[in-house]
Amino acid sequence: MSETLFEQIIAREIPAEIVYETETTLAFRDIGPQAKVHVLVVPKTRYRNLAALAAADPQLLADVVASAEKVAELEGIKESGYRVVFNTDGDAGQTVFHVHAHVLGGEPLSRFGA
Ligand code: IMP
Repeated sequence: MSETLFEQIIAREIPAEIVYETETTLAFRDIGPQAKVHVLVVPKTRYRNLAALAAADPQLLADVVASAEKVAELEGIKESGYRVVFNTDGDAGQTVFHVHAHVLGGEPLSRFGA
């Protein structure tokens, strides 16, 4: 059995709307979009959060960031601007402990806050 929901999506054990894939990453639409465009980018290898990924495999982190930029291009938001967010642990409200980048855009985004 897969350890997290995102590993189940990577393994195609549960459905997702996949928008982009590379050898090392997968991008799919967030099930509860917080903006007109809201796509998640995950490394296919599981790390708990951004810090763990950065420490263990900087190239894989670079792959995730490159995939996020590609998603912005494919979604037509590269020119208008977009946000890439890694929620990390408690106060950030991380709920799935398989590191993921949120790619948000398609409309003006509110500034950061609680
Ligand atoms: P976090 O709060 O940064 O951990 O983000 C987890 C994200 O996963 C949330 O934005 C959820 O809406 C999203 N999510 C949860 N389950 C699914 C799913 O089955 N498919 C796609 N996105 C999901």
